[in-house]
Amino acid sequence: MKSIKFSVIICFLFLLFSCSNPSDMNNTDLGINNNDTISIDQESKAVDENQNNDGEITDINDPNAIFDDVYDNWGELDFSSVNTRASTWVVKAWPIVRKGAESLNVKIIQYLLKAAGYSISIDGQFGSGTESVVKAFQRAKGLSADGIVGSGTWSKLIITIKQGSNGYSVKALQDVLRNRCGYSLTIDGAFGTGTKGKVVQFQSSYALSADGVVGPTTWQYLIAGATKSSNGGGGSSNDFWGSRVSSWTFPVKSSLACNPNTGARYFGAVRNGGARSHAGVDLIPSTGTGTNVYAMTSGTVINYYYFYSGTYALEVKNDDGTVIRYGEITSSLRSGARVSKNQIIGKIIRNTAGGSYMLHLEVYKGTSSGSLTQGANHTYKYVTKRNYQRRSDLIDPMGVTRLSR
Ligand SMILES: [Zn+2]
Repeated sequence: MKSIKFSVIICFLFLLFSCSNPSDMNNTDLGINNNDTISIDQESKAVDENQNNDGEITDINDPNAIFDDVYDNWGELDFSSVNTRASTWVVKAWPIVRKGAESLNVKIIQYLLKAAGYSISIDGQFGSGTESVVKAFQRAKGLSADGIVGSGTWSKLIITIKQGSNGYSVKALQDVLRNRCGYSLTIDGAFGTGTKGKVVQFQSSYALSADGVVGPTTWQYLIAGATKSSNGGGGSSNDFWGSRVSSWTFPVKSSLACNPNTGARYFGAVRNGGARSHAGVDLIPSTGTGTNVYAMTSGTVINYYYFYSGTYALEVKNDDGTVIRYGEITSSLRSGARVSKNQIIGKIIRNTAGGSYMLHLEVYKGTSSGSLTQGANHTYKYVTKRNYQRRSDLIDPMGVTRLSR
């Protein structure tokens, strides 16, 4: 089977900052570019969704279909391949985390404080207790003791770990790999060959030196994340995106918690153990559930329906003839409603199967007719032939990452 293979990647987190850099304070709250708002309760479940489930159920009354998609939550990821989409990524600034935050980033800080010998509970909630431990840590490191974890504090919290390392810093690493982006591994605090393999995959996906050693650079990619690939998507769909890069807008204004080129989030990623291929791209907002979804261009709603595990899909026929399926969301719009570019058309919600959330985005050129989901279709006009189980005018959506926010 022809295979453009990819693998995995990603994950981010965090916070940043210390008082030594007051200008960064403006980024400190739970604003849109900050990952802090990802709630802790999804973390334990995120891996399920990352192993994937979006998309195929369109009929809640079909128990077999539902079973199939729930089944999708298990064992779908193929991490054995190499990511060939990796391109230019720029690491983001360390996130700023402060009292009041409740997130995986907070949990990571707590792990790292524990690794440094401090007594602290790892609950993902940045309360007064965590704040005082952060202050004590900052004092011990000669930092300004403001209780806010920014770049200065982060750089003191992280320690280089590698195969053979043990303890809470390893748990921090494993938690990020597993719960941000769905790497399949156990959070046991033991850095063995399995963990090393995942780190190598992560590093490869960002074109970092893939030595499996988690030093300052890898930690920052893991925790802060990286932005924007120069890759505009694959194959024959490039021209499609090239003509829209300046006219369409990115559907999520938040930064993304995961690199959509990797893990199981990209177009063509393995589903059902290879039985089918992911027909869309998953955009996971750093701002968590409730994040708004914006119309990428103007058009008319042609359908709104139950999609998958408690989520819905909005189909919009755009004025240029293309069709976009905005999946795994909720919307108050119904068939016939006009939408204009940049209009809020829905919100990203948590699904009930994996507890995760994302915008599952599918794009069609509009040159075919009928249902977008077509389980038996094996003919595609614009993408490399694979078993997408979609309409024949499916477009590779990865070029969406080139759109301006
Ligand atoms: Zn998806």
